Amino acid sequence: MAFIHEVLQEPSYGWKNADGELSKPTPKQIFSEFFSRLNVFKDKKNWLSFMSWGMVLFLAPFLFLFVFKYFSVTGLIIAFVYSMMVMGTHGTIWYHRYCTHGAFKFRNNFWRFFTQNLTLKIIPEEIYAISHHVHHALSDTPGDPYNAQGGFLYCFLADANHQPVNRNLDEKGYNRCLTLMKHTGVTCNTYAQYKKWGSVANPFHMVLGVVANWAFWFTVFYLLGGPGLACAIFGAAGFWAVGVRTFNYEGHGKGEDKRRDGIDHNRKDMSVNQLWPGIVAGEWHNNHHLYPKSARSGFKPHQVDSAWYYIKFMSMIGAVSHYHDSKKQFYKDYIKEPVKVSVASKPVFCPTTGKQIFATEVI
Ligand SMILES: [Zn+2]
Ligand SMILES: [Zn+2]
Repeated sequence: MAFIHEVLQEPSYGWKNADGELSKPTPKQIFSEFFSRLNVFKDKKNWLSFMSWGMVLFLAPFLFLFVFKYFSVTGLIIAFVYSMMVMGTHGTIWYHRYCTHGAFKFRNNFWRFFTQNLTLKIIPEEIYAISHHVHHALSDTPGDPYNAQGGFLYCFLADANHQPVNRNLDEKGYNRCLTLMKHTGVTCNTYAQYKKWGSVANPFHMVLGVVANWAFWFTVFYLLGGPGLACAIFGAAGFWAVGVRTFNYEGHGKGEDKRRDGIDHNRKDMSVNQLWPGIVAGEWHNNHHLYPKSARSGFKPHQVDSAWYYIKFMSMIGAVSHYHDSKKQFYKDYIKEPVKVSVASKPVFCPTTGKQIFATEVI
């Protein structure tokens, strides 16, 4: 079986039904799979999904504290900007354009580390990046880890139910996962450690990385604005972590064909360009499916792309050494320039009357 079809752990309800079509689980099946995959007491190989949702749960009290104890309008504005724009844009830059698509290169590991830890770390790189390759290869077909035709819950809980790496890869398959992850700087397991822990990421390094990241940012925000600011931002980060899990369902038309002429130029899958994710995070998803390796997805004048501005800025200061930009290609392929003709008039004379008449000549 091709690597792309076996790299993810198939859910108990399968990718396909007996007819080869998408297996659509009931909500009960989805929840049952979800809780079984979070159960670290049943199997310690569930540690990464457990940790992933554990982090969301851990952040919830901060939101609660902000709302009921430290609420202020300024705090609300900061929380809104942080959860929507800062976390969203960082997600596009780091997980999507860098870790998955390698759309740009850092000059050195310092700038990679800097960018990786620019916000609170909540999503494990491997959960996002490896499954996202499958999403591109199998978009809107069985096996797509967040196939929107499977429904909202199918996508919302995908990071536990459909995105973790297959635990039964042979060494060759596991090495291919390492190839997909090597530029991210994530400390990866050896094959023997993978057999023990079921993940690519090394558990010790992953936990240490998150604890250090959270401790650093909590200290910074606490020093800048006391417990009120720290709670506003940590709560906002938790809010984002839940909100971002709704994106994949909506970014592919909620299981329907919502593509519009002149806006969604890519017709190979159901992805759509949506205004809000585009404006706050540079996620012009239909454009992105056209040119996945481009460090820019906002091609048209109104398609602002905050993730691209960061990458471009980093390139200008020398922190990014190389990037792909498909804007020109997009215009060449999809936006047909009107044919330029210049029209000039020049006097001519009628051969019979000898009077001057005017004719037009297209040059
Ligand atoms: Zn997509
Ligand atoms: Zn992508």
